Amino acid sequence: MWLPAHIAIGYIIGKKTSLDTRWCVLGSVLPDLIDKTLGHMGVFPAYQTVSHSLLGLAVVTALLFGRYGPAMFAFYVGWVVHLAADVLQLTLNGRGGHALNMLGWPVLHWENPMVTAPETAYYEGIFASIPFVQEGYVLHYMTTPAFYLELVILVYAGWLLARPASSPTIERSRTDTDP
Ligand SMILES: [Zn+2]
Repeated sequence: MWLPAHIAIGYIIGKKTSLDTRWCVLGSVLPDLIDKTLGHMGVFPAYQTVSHSLLGLAVVTALLFGRYGPAMFAFYVGWVVHLAADVLQLTLNGRGGHALNMLGWPVLHWENPMVTAPETAYYEGIFASIPFVQEGYVLHYMTTPAFYLELVILVYAGWLLARPASSPTIERSRTDTDP
């Protein structure tokens, strides 16, 4: 999924649970920030590598082990949900094999499953800051089911953000009428 959808998912989980929204969002965006940066820098030849893998999840789990306060737990949930969202996106678009490869990096794949990191010349065009555009990836993605799921997620998060806070009076009167 694209970054705005990951931000939205972290936000929705924070708002719909008792988890800290800021830590949820941070955990939800960090795998992409790390792996896309590593891909752009040429450290790894793909955009979904260490932070999208079960190996990376094991490292995060080990780093957080014994430190599961509310903030770290919310961060961890955000991280796991990021992986789940990417697996769902790939599977929805008929790329379940790529989802498996993503989780299995570096054992199941090294250079893919998404797109091999581009050559330097790739960044010289007008869309230099928008990865994949020159390869038609963006336009293609906008025709897939996962793109419309992302739109729904963004609209729902926008609605949660924009709606007024629920009135305590209404909540109380509802509770009072419960059997
Ligand atoms: Zn991702």
